[in-house]
Amino acid sequence: MTRSGAGPAACRFCGMPLRHVFADLGLTPLANRNLRPDEVAAEKKYPLITRVCDNCLLVQADDSVPPDAIFSDYDYLSSASFGWVAHAGHYCRDMARRFKIGGDSFVVEIASNDGYLLEHFVAMGVPVLGVEPAANVAEIAIKAGVPTEVAFFGVETARKIAARGRKADLMAANNVLAHVPNSRDFVGGFAELLAPEGVATFEFPHVMNLIEYVQFDTIYHEHFFYLSLFTVEKIMASAGLRVFDVQELSTHGGSLRLFVCHDGASHAPGERLAEMRRREHEKALDRIDGYTGFAARIAAVKDSFLTFVADAERRGKTIAGYGAAAKGSTFLNYCGVGYPRIGEVYDRSVLKQGKLTPGGHIPIVPIERLAETKPDYVVILPWNIADEVRQNMAFISEWDGHFVVAVPRTHVFVEG
Ligand SMILES: [Zn+2]
Repeated sequence: MTRSGAGPAACRFCGMPLRHVFADLGLTPLANRNLRPDEVAAEKKYPLITRVCDNCLLVQADDSVPPDAIFSDYDYLSSASFGWVAHAGHYCRDMARRFKIGGDSFVVEIASNDGYLLEHFVAMGVPVLGVEPAANVAEIAIKAGVPTEVAFFGVETARKIAARGRKADLMAANNVLAHVPNSRDFVGGFAELLAPEGVATFEFPHVMNLIEYVQFDTIYHEHFFYLSLFTVEKIMASAGLRVFDVQELSTHGGSLRLFVCHDGASHAPGERLAEMRRREHEKALDRIDGYTGFAARIAAVKDSFLTFVADAERRGKTIAGYGAAAKGSTFLNYCGVGYPRIGEVYDRSVLKQGKLTPGGHIPIVPIERLAETKPDYVVILPWNIADEVRQNMAFISEWDGHFVVAVPRTHVFVEG
């Protein structure tokens, strides 16, 4: 699927030519690839361009990175995030109650990671199966008592599992739909494995929030799709599935959870589905107008941040960052700001400490350094956790330090 360079690429879902750029963030290193000092010289950059299809309105990343470069460094564990574990517990209890999931049911999770979600069902005595492509991560789940199949999910894997004689009453796919390049085959797998009255849920960051709050820093190479209800309904229909309910979640700056069933199943379409269709229509997400003009708004976010940085430097102030995650990498690389303008980035993960951020090569250091360095400004790069960080580290006001967020525009907080 590498682009030939002659003419526009084809939409990954409907195959129509892609004529509209959604966001061009320039040459960018892989956002999740923090570097050891000896890896800096070999760092590669790839164009980070997203386009929108004027036929199905799928916002999608260009195919610019060789797949082995993306997937060779998988070291993220869901259970390392307390927020996600709590989210998973709520999900399991809600689903069990609403869809009467019990000891006679069968629950399958796709991209089940280390089993952090399914273990809640295991505790309720519900038979489960995880499907996880990363063998090292699947092994952790299996050791924790969560049966897990090491496989990429699609029609073939689904048929193999269904052939064992049991279809799924509930299937969960949280934050995976946007990361799978062949969505037809992926969604087709749900049609194969879901029981006639079964329910599948899909969670993904809502492109409506990406546009409205200029969350362009959620764009990175490993993230292929930026999804609306409008487009996902088309993708589901291609596999004989339909959405019957939708819930809004606060995760990742605003996500949707879609409830999906077979076209012929008895689940009645809910009020919230009609409401979300109406809201997306109001925001023009069902036509190309809703997606054009985003590039100019991104440029304004960058201008706002560069003005702040230049002003701080003129006044002799020091700037540091908080949170060495993908968001900050995309943001700082697009702004062209790295070390030494940002002196260091604080992060809790010992796996990241001692490494350098992609592109800008800012040293990643333990949180404790903050109280020693006493920077004048700390830019909270994952803005979605800004409240939590400000609360936990309010002590920066002791040296008149200030927290800053840069999206949707640069804002300096006054603490205390
Ligand atoms: Zn399309």
